Amino acid sequence: MLDAAFFRRWMAATAASVDREAERLTALDSAIGDADHGANMQRGFTAVTAALEKEAPTTPGAVLTLAGRQLISTVGGASGPLYGTLLRRAGKALGDAAEVGEEQFADALRAGVDGVMALGGAAPGDKTMIDALLPAVDALGDGFAAARAAAEAGAVATVPLLARKGRASYLGERSIGHQDPGATSSALLIAGLAEAGDE
Ligand code: ADP
Ligand code: MG
Ligand code: MG
Repeated sequence: MLDAAFFRRWMAATAASVDREAERLTALDSAIGDADHGANMQRGFTAVTAALEKEAPTTPGAVLTLAGRQLISTVGGASGPLYGTLLRRAGKALGDAAEVGEEQFADALRAGVDGVMALGGAAPGDKTMIDALLPAVDALGDGFAAARAAAEAGAVATVPLLARKGRASYLGERSIGHQDPGATSSALLIAGLAEAGDE
């Protein structure tokens, strides 16, 4: 079973990897965007960390809804409302249970990904965070390590794709040959699950 402490560890692991990889995320976004994805993610997850410390939510659902709210209110870029929706929807789906099963969590994360697709209008193959998140959710039944591998493979598989959503889509064919920054940060988010589960 996964308790609130697990979800706090997940957010902390993601904040740490976003800090470590911020320059890489920004470099990817400078190739096909506006060079702010690292800073956007850092600002958002710094706020998530601070809010979790201050409010100390005690259920999995409350951890994720608080984190999602912080991302929406602190990140100016497109990724803020999208990641915020992912976590808020997932948190809402978990309700107020003190502990949740891995299958219940997989269903909740799928609801979150559905929310991201509804909000942003992206489909698989559009070269967005969906290309890492959806394979991860599909693999979650096989465990966190499998989900991490699927997300990382999904992020790498965005390289040859033509961007159809977000800023990168303005580049048309010139978006081909670059890894999507949001798919890359999504792989960090999913890798955080494996890290949180290991502790
Ligand atoms: P901005 O583009 O506003 O500067 P960021 O640089 O923080 O925001 O985030 C860019 C990332 O957001 C993209 O790499 C992509 O993965 C994701 N993204 C942008 N638009 C969408 C969308 N409509 N649906 C899903 N993901 C999107
Ligand atoms: Mg950007
Ligand atoms: Mg921007």
